[in-house]
Amino acid sequence: MVNLIIFGAPGSGKGTYASRLKERLNVEVVATGDLFREMIKLDTPLGRRVKEYVERGLLVPDEITLEVLKESLAKIPKGKGFILDGYPRTIPQARALDGIAKIDAIIHLIVPDWIIIERLSARRICRNCGAIYNILFLKPKNDMICDKCGGPLYQRSDDTPEVIRKRIEVYEKQTQPLLDYYKCKGLPFVEVRCEKLETPPEEVVEKILEGLKKLNLA
Ligand code: ADP
Repeated sequence: MVNLIIFGAPGSGKGTYASRLKERLNVEVVATGDLFREMIKLDTPLGRRVKEYVERGLLVPDEITLEVLKESLAKIPKGKGFILDGYPRTIPQARALDGIAKIDAIIHLIVPDWIIIERLSARRICRNCGAIYNILFLKPKNDMICDKCGGPLYQRSDDTPEVIRKRIEVYEKQTQPLLDYYKCKGLPFVEVRCEKLETPPEEVVEKILEGLKKLNLA
């Protein structure tokens, strides 16, 4: 059983890798952003409170985030581990996590800014089913239409070079103290660099697994 945290900038492929690691490592992926989006969709009373923060791009207050995290971790079947994606985002969140789970290692994806900008600028999403395309490497048959459901494809308004630069800056400012926190605690790191725009996800997943094997965690 292994408990991991994955850190990577927006556009680093974090979600894609985590979902593939899920099948290889017998873990659940716990992504706080996804949990919040689900609560908002269900329009629960807490979901309505959460929506105010998520819509403005602000962090959801720690006490709500921690409750949601605890609830989600409690649902994981015995004997199964987890990969956290999107948590912790602050030092108090990291400290709170220390109190509820033991983390075995940190996966850190290191992707140059130019790759992130190229990837996100080329990202297109289906308005109907949420499928994700890339007009450079994961091309839909028609640039405007979803292959899976025929829905219209759109570009997220924050997937433009200027806004992407800002998002990278925010990510780095937020994440560096957390990486330092876990380094100070002596947790092992699996650092994976991606230097090419066209590196297939399988290659990165294999590198992560190799790193975990060296630590006897896979
Ligand atoms: P992104 O990578 O674009 O930030 P996420 O899906 O990780 O997307 O998060 C979406 C939103 O959910 C964040 O902007 C924030 O409002 C909220 N959120 C996610 N994780 C956390 C967290 N650990 N603490 C507080 N808010 C969070």
